[in-house]
Amino acid sequence: MGGGKFGAAIKNGGYDFIAVHGQADKPTFVYLSREGVQFLDADCLWGLDTFATQDKIRDKYGKTHTHIACIGPAGENLVKFAAIIHEKRAAARGGVGAVMGAKNLKALVIHTTGANTPALHDREAFLKLVKDHNKILKTHVRRKKMTTYGTTFMTSKMHEMGIFPVKNFQEGCLPGVEKIDGEAFQKLKTADYGCYACSTRCGNVFKAAEGPYKGAESEGPEYETIFSFGGEIANTDAGAIIAADALCDRLGLDTISMGVVAGFVMELYEKGILSAQELDGMKPEWGDHEALFKLIEKVAKREGIGNILAEGTRKAGQLIGKGAEYYAMTAKGLELPGYDPRAAKAHGLGYATSNIGGSHMYGYARQEISGFMQPREIDRFADEGKGDVAGWNQIKKAVEETGILCNFADTNITPQLICDLFVSATGRSDLAEAKNINKFGERIVCLERCFNVREGFSRKDDTLPERMFKEPLKNAGPSTGQVIRKMDSLLDEYYDFMGYDKNGMPTVEKLNELGLGKVAHEVSKFRRQVSSDADKS
Ligand code: SF4
Repeated sequence: MGGGKFGAAIKNGGYDFIAVHGQADKPTFVYLSREGVQFLDADCLWGLDTFATQDKIRDKYGKTHTHIACIGPAGENLVKFAAIIHEKRAAARGGVGAVMGAKNLKALVIHTTGANTPALHDREAFLKLVKDHNKILKTHVRRKKMTTYGTTFMTSKMHEMGIFPVKNFQEGCLPGVEKIDGEAFQKLKTADYGCYACSTRCGNVFKAAEGPYKGAESEGPEYETIFSFGGEIANTDAGAIIAADALCDRLGLDTISMGVVAGFVMELYEKGILSAQELDGMKPEWGDHEALFKLIEKVAKREGIGNILAEGTRKAGQLIGKGAEYYAMTAKGLELPGYDPRAAKAHGLGYATSNIGGSHMYGYARQEISGFMQPREIDRFADEGKGDVAGWNQIKKAVEETGILCNFADTNITPQLICDLFVSATGRSDLAEAKNINKFGERIVCLERCFNVREGFSRKDDTLPERMFKEPLKNAGPSTGQVIRKMDSLLDEYYDFMGYDKNGMPTVEKLNELGLGKVAHEVSKFRRQVSSDADKS
């Protein structure tokens, strides 16, 4: 999922969704309009960065009504954490850009023609709900804070809680954090940005005012990028974070994974696992932002050590050997985001059980971060009693993303408001009650899990990096000393809540309850296989 206007452009362009099957035999871009779909030669675009690609396409098709989602060199080179870029927004996590690259697909281009907004079942009711809600948002404190700061205000908050990951998740507080917190970035703000029809407009454009990166400009960085190019590599130069963010957008890279890759390299260098010779002459010390830029370029182009790092930290650790894998901070191979799971354990359980791996968005545990009281209050340090909350968060998120509702624009959104919006938009009476739409959310999470089961995932994959079990969190203020002690209990609680068996596979009863009986046979086949493997070992 990414911000911007592309999702709305798909619908306004006359389509419900785009599914791309197979692989083109040469670089191609797809042009969609109300007249139909064309597959066009992308030779002249291949090799260009994402901004140049969009400029060139707009030169040909016009600046208005032309909406583009494209990849940069990282996607073309099949970097496993390549992003899809639309305007300056990224759909980044999980390597979606590499999927486009593997298809030789440089860009999707949609031409919308003016007022083709989709029909609503009850337009008047829908617009009244939106208008009433916008009235509340106008004066709402959270909305105002999001509009002013975006997510940059999270930096000092996470630092105070001691869960701002520092030096590849070794520590939880960063000396000098005030140089990269929300107030510091406010001084660099030059404009704001909003996605399609958003009244929160949390996007910020920042420009470095001094230092070696003076003049560098980016739409962002958000909190996650401040973590990944800040705390993760012990860097407090805001200009470097802005410039690295812009470079990743141009090359088409996920900033979270890229920053964690850089932290991984710095720790391997510190521990003597990678030498300067193995790093193409680089000597990447903590806080070395010059090394960060070299690593970004090398990864995107798969040059030298970048060719190994482009596989992501888990695979890179296996390829490097010498125990390097221990320092890969991932869940299911996806680099962890900016909340240390040892001192926010429902968050950690969310990372471990998320069907896409280490994602903060898949089931954000707001209960631990901002005292959210639903479905109930929890103690972020407690070793047990988190399974139901982690499951509840994932189901809630699936409902919201189906909506589609942005995490940052959900101020004062109630389950009933979501239902009312669904019903007035679609006319479907089965969407009128929250308990019904929650079932849709549960079905989405469960079906994704079935997909993973088919691909060989089971309980063994629902886990966190070894560091989280073996090394108590250091230099982390109130979180110092926290460690994950009872992963097995947490998993059992979560599986119980979700209706999964002890191997993390949905039970036949749960599949039938969710109307997924058609995949029960296949899941049972893998269940037998995993049980027999466990018996043998
Ligand atoms: S609140 Fe969400 S939809 Fe609005 S501008 Fe921010 S990211 Fe985009």
